[in-house]
Amino acid sequence: MSAQPAYKRILLKLSGEALMGELGFGISPPVTSFLANEIKAVVEAGVQVALVVGGGNIFRGEPLAKAGMDRITGDQMGMLATVINALALQDAIERSTGLQARVQSAIRINEVCEDFIRRKAVRHLEKGRVVVFAAGTGNPFFTTDSAAALRAIEIGADLMLKATKVDGIYTADPKKDPAATRYDTVTYDEALSRRLGVMDQTAMVLCRDNKMKLCVYDMDRPGALMKIVMGDRSFGTYVD
Ligand code: UDP
Repeated sequence: MSAQPAYKRILLKLSGEALMGELGFGISPPVTSFLANEIKAVVEAGVQVALVVGGGNIFRGEPLAKAGMDRITGDQMGMLATVINALALQDAIERSTGLQARVQSAIRINEVCEDFIRRKAVRHLEKGRVVVFAAGTGNPFFTTDSAAALRAIEIGADLMLKATKVDGIYTADPKKDPAATRYDTVTYDEALSRRLGVMDQTAMVLCRDNKMKLCVYDMDRPGALMKIVMGDRSFGTYVD
C-alpha cells in the first residue's frame, strides 16, 4: 500500500436503501452524515469523487407497476426519488464536511439542481467538488446501476464502487448458504454467466465492454472506502 491514492477519480454508487439506515423508509441523517465523512476522507487524500444514488428507499417503478400504476409514470417517480436522495447527500456533504457538492440531474429541474453536463461535471470534480448524479439515466426501464456504469464511463472514472451491505460478491447468498465463499476477483463474463446478482445485466455489459473496473464493498465498515482508494485490495470484490 502506497501513501498516494491508487485512483484519481472514482464513481461511488449508493442504493436508496443505503440511506435509510434503521428507518425502513426515507433518509436517515446519521447515515448521510457517516457517508459524507467517509467521502470527505478520500477527497482530502486527493481523489475526485462522483456519486450516483438510487431511489429504492422511496419509490421504484417496477413494484408501482405491479400494484397497478403505469410503468413509465412509476419509473419517473423512481427517478424523482433519486433527486430527493441526491439533495439529501448534497446537504449532508456540505454541512457535515465543509466540502462543496453539486447535484446534476438527468431530467431538467433547474430550480433545484444543475442539468447533467459532462464537461461541467468534470470541471466540478477537478475543483474538488463532489458531484452527485441524480435521476438515473433520465429514461424509464433503466436502473441507477446502469446510470452509475454510464456516468463512470462518461467521466473517465478509474474505478466504480458499489456500496452494499456485504463485503463483496459471494458464490451464493451468504445469509442463506453458510457454505458461500467470497470472490476476491471475478470477471464480468463469469458474473454474468453465473448470474451473481452484482448489478443488472445492462450495467455489467456496459462496464465490461468499456473496461470499467468495479469494486463491490461493505459501506458500513468505517474506513473501508479510504483503504480501497489507497490500493488495499483486501476489502471487497473486484470485477473486471
Ligand atoms: N429509474 C429509471 N431510470 C433510470 C434509473 C432509475 O426509471 O435510469 C427508476 C426506476 O423506477 C427505479 C427507480 O428509479 O426502480 C429507483 O432506482 P433504483 O431501483 O436503481 O434504485 P436503488 O435500487 O439503487 O435504490
